[in-house]
Amino acid sequence: MKAHDGMYIDGEWRPATGPDVIEVVNPADEQVIGRVPAGTAEDVDLAVRAALAALPAWAATAPAERAARLAALRDVLAARKDEIAETVTAELGSPLKFSQNVHAAVPVAVAGSYAELAATHPFEEKVGNSTVHLEPVGVVAAITPWNYPLHQIVAKVAPALAAGCTVVLKPAEDTPLVAQLFAEAVHEAGVPAGVFNLVTGLGPVAGQALAEHPGVDLVSFTGSTAVGRQIGATAGAALKKVALELGGKSANVILPSADLAKAVNVGVANVMSNSGQTCSAWTRMLVHRDQYEEAVELAAAAAAKYGERIGPVVNAKQQARVRGYIEKGVAEGARLVAGGPESPRDQGYFVAPTVFADVTSEMTIAQEEIFGPVLSILRYEDEEDALRIANGTVYGLAGAVWAGEEAEAVAFARRMDTGQVDINGGRFNPLAPFGGYKQSGVGRELGSHGLTEYLQTKSLQF
Ligand code: NAD
Repeated sequence: MKAHDGMYIDGEWRPATGPDVIEVVNPADEQVIGRVPAGTAEDVDLAVRAALAALPAWAATAPAERAARLAALRDVLAARKDEIAETVTAELGSPLKFSQNVHAAVPVAVAGSYAELAATHPFEEKVGNSTVHLEPVGVVAAITPWNYPLHQIVAKVAPALAAGCTVVLKPAEDTPLVAQLFAEAVHEAGVPAGVFNLVTGLGPVAGQALAEHPGVDLVSFTGSTAVGRQIGATAGAALKKVALELGGKSANVILPSADLAKAVNVGVANVMSNSGQTCSAWTRMLVHRDQYEEAVELAAAAAAKYGERIGPVVNAKQQARVRGYIEKGVAEGARLVAGGPESPRDQGYFVAPTVFADVTSEMTIAQEEIFGPVLSILRYEDEEDALRIANGTVYGLAGAVWAGEEAEAVAFARRMDTGQVDINGGRFNPLAPFGGYKQSGVGRELGSHGLTEYLQTKSLQF
């Protein structure tokens, strides 16, 4: 795989300041496929300085010019979609078709949506005797995870650029190659030097240096709750703005009037796709006691069909973590009806698609984010019980409700403490705000709500 041995700073690939490298491993066969530099605090400082220097001119560009650069970026990402899909498959391990349809395609849609929003968003509004200007927040530190490696980058960088901010990106250490490809695309799209900068490196070194850098105005982070908490504390102490997209433990609530087979099959597919490494996955399925055993049988059969099609999880540590959770589920008394802790293949970081029945809300597997292909099926007595279980975690990122009548599902969804709910299998909407209630995060991404995160208001009174 193609890999740059430098950092993309101030419009060019520059040698890294330190000698350390990160080996990129293909999780499907455990082979090293490339090496990227492990950035130091010095690399981060150079990148933030470049972003600071580029800020006044970029912030002053007409929104139409920023829209034109984002449209060019969308076109480059679309033109290079095959290369993007192959790169994500090589470093994340997801099946090529999923990489094509999701990892490569969604960023094109999101970049396109911000090309349009940059051109149409009202960056000025009248309120009584005031004119309110929406101005860029400044230099953005974007720290991203590996699970949707390009989507998470574009979901931060595109709105930041649309707002007139400049950016330093620190991508996940497991998936730096698609981040380098993205930097090439930004360059090809004619974005001025210094507006976007890339520093690859380790979280506790380059990531922390970036989050702490005094030149950064806003830290936008997606990843684990533990690191998010730390970044929130660091940003809070420095009075920096912060946006956090953290974990989830979302509920898929199947009401008795729903099409049970459809709800279960879509629910299993939702959890197994991307090998369960989706923060908004519906990892808890809630079924009425009268339909419970039928749902369990359907789910076990659906999971078994994923056996050959599922990709590996991202690395050996994640595989061990997920298998640890499966063992814990068994130890706490849940009933294993598909999969299990044994690795289904000799090579690669694979985890068998796993389904647990007889899961109760107090169990670890019903409370903590596993981030692997593991579904827990919980039994509820009545609607109030379902609501109590659905809302009974520290998280509130996503969810689903299924019912015979849409209105019944909507009424239930309105009582859920969560940031988004799919009604009877509603489709992903790249313009809808994405983000969490409770400990799932702070702030929103995507669409005009996502753009607003990167803007601050200045009111002029007349
Ligand atoms: P992580 O939170 O450690 O990593 C996310 C990003 O933060 C990476 O770029 C990493 O380099 C960086 N980072 C790590 N430590 C940092 C620090 N001290 N300062 C600044 N940046 C730092 O996540 P992980 O270890 O890759 O995954 C662990 C768990 O996190 C997963 O099992 C899963 O539960 C969860 N996770 C959630 C999401 C999500 O979308 N919400 C994504 C990935 C992982």
